[in-house]
Amino acid sequence: MKNLSAQPATPHTDTKTLVKVAVARGDGIGPEIMDATLRILDAAGAGIEPEFIDVGKAVYLSGNTSGITAAAWDTVRKNKVILKSPITTPQGKGYKSLNVTLRKSLGLFANVRPVMSLSPYIHTHFPEMDLVVIRENEEDLYAGIEHRQTQDVVQCLKLITRPGCERIVRYAFEYARAYDRRKVTCMVKDNIMKLTDGLFHTVFDEIGAEYPDIEKDAQIIDIASARLASRPEGYDVVVTSNLYGDIVSDIAAEIAGSVGMAGSANIGTDVAMFEAIHGSAPDIAGRNIANPSGLLNAAVMMLAHIGQQTVADKVKNAWLATIEQGFHTKDIFIEGQSTRAVSTDEFAAEVIERL
Ligand code: NAD
Repeated sequence: MKNLSAQPATPHTDTKTLVKVAVARGDGIGPEIMDATLRILDAAGAGIEPEFIDVGKAVYLSGNTSGITAAAWDTVRKNKVILKSPITTPQGKGYKSLNVTLRKSLGLFANVRPVMSLSPYIHTHFPEMDLVVIRENEEDLYAGIEHRQTQDVVQCLKLITRPGCERIVRYAFEYARAYDRRKVTCMVKDNIMKLTDGLFHTVFDEIGAEYPDIEKDAQIIDIASARLASRPEGYDVVVTSNLYGDIVSDIAAEIAGSVGMAGSANIGTDVAMFEAIHGSAPDIAGRNIANPSGLLNAAVMMLAHIGQQTVADKVKNAWLATIEQGFHTKDIFIEGQSTRAVSTDEFAAEVIERL
């Protein structure tokens, strides 16, 4: 896993100099998967010093409407690297998503979500699947600009800017080059949203022309999602706007085996935040059964980002060996195929044994 940043990696290439990382333990399954991940990083000798920050529900309930304390903002801005567990956001009411606040306030414009089949060790119908969704992370319907017009009419604004499109599209092509990927597919709905999605597509064509070595394709998001779900091998790098990217990356992770497997990097020009793609999974919280792989994979990206490539590789290899040898959490366990069903803690212990 190479450095994914828009900026050069932080020049900490050894693990003796500890890099301070802002760590949010989140809620739901967040604390369980964070504890498992930090145990593995510690055992691997990662040169990081976690600084825990106060964010989320308790902060909201204390009257702070941003969900993040002033001290937490200071830690984040000072350290510039965040490892974050999922945080619950109420549906249809209540406080605004802290995830969106962090991404927008810190200018984390690119959300990079690699998804790869680990067949035959993890069951999937798509053994050849290996793609990366690059999701625009600050604009679109996710900008959260909503109004009530009348009692019965509400409105959400879809905000797309040329600079936003240029930045994410260029990032996707640069990523493809850096990682020797052959194709970039743009997903839009510009047959209907001719201005907003039309702009994204136009910018894709303009910037794509500067990359003659990379194959280009533009697809309408509805059929693209259907094709992704039935023939994911046909995709390599996908670049798309915020909401579509959120949806297609969950589809991709789920058909590769489990939404619990994929990690992501939220990249800005100054700060980067690493997290699992999934949410706080309240249905399984507190039961020690969640798969910590998504957050662990995010942590591997973080180690590459801060220049600790050797430890990143060590953790990734131990994780792969654990999966290959069949120690599986419940979401990926298959009777007769997996070796043993393990808890979150046991999974972490198996990874540590293979470091
Ligand atoms: P979810 O991703 O939390 O869960 C969807 C399903 O996948 C559930 O059945 C869950 O048990 C399962 N799952 C998810 N992660 C798993 C793991 N690591 N191991 C095993 N199974 C796993 O989606 P949701 O239920 O729609 O969302 C719950 C909350 O999370 C919501 O409040 C939502 O806003 C929030 N959320 C937060 C983030 C974030 O912090 N970045 C991202 C997405 C959703």
